[in-house]
Amino acid sequence: MTTHADRVDQLLSGPRPLPIVPAGLPVLRRPADRYDGQLDDAVLHALLDAMRETMHAAPGVGLAAPQIGIGLQLAVLEDSAAVAEDVAVARDRRPLDFLVLVNPAYEAVGDERAFFYEGCLSVPGYQAAVDRPASVHLTASAVDGTPIDADYHGWQARIVQHETDHLAGALYLDLADLRSLSENGVYQALWAGPSIDRARDHLGF
Ligand code: ZN
Repeated sequence: MTTHADRVDQLLSGPRPLPIVPAGLPVLRRPADRYDGQLDDAVLHALLDAMRETMHAAPGVGLAAPQIGIGLQLAVLEDSAAVAEDVAVARDRRPLDFLVLVNPAYEAVGDERAFFYEGCLSVPGYQAAVDRPASVHLTASAVDGTPIDADYHGWQARIVQHETDHLAGALYLDLADLRSLSENGVYQALWAGPSIDRARDHLGF
């Protein structure tokens, strides 16, 4: 039987950036296994480095291990928030320093919601609007096993939710209002502004 360690060895001996698994492959739809030391420390660090490189190259602000075909509860997140200032303010999008999440889970904090477009490296070419809790409480472990126990708000909370959902076998499209679905070029031309109100008016969601 092929183990996670076998799959990671095979992956790390292949090309960089790592190939990203597209929607439709079962690894994206299975709950990932809890990470429980299945990889040697050096291999784990090499995997996380490769995931970070792949996230930067895509480019994206998060990458979960199932997106590179590894069914373990590992994700990398990092956001330079390189968007227009008015968009950053509207979305409460502040830079997120590089963060590794091992076995993450979250719950909503308060009732405030945030409804914005998002995309996914495993669903290339499209964006859709997702209504999510504006703030979440995250529990996870850091790569060295240190507990992470923190609140996230705004766009950082959206990234935390999106990547943690991947580890449960969920895609953002499961939560999106599909009437908002927009091809990337259309999204950039018409709907990439600070608010989704205009998109809602015109697309009827
Ligand atoms: Zn994704």
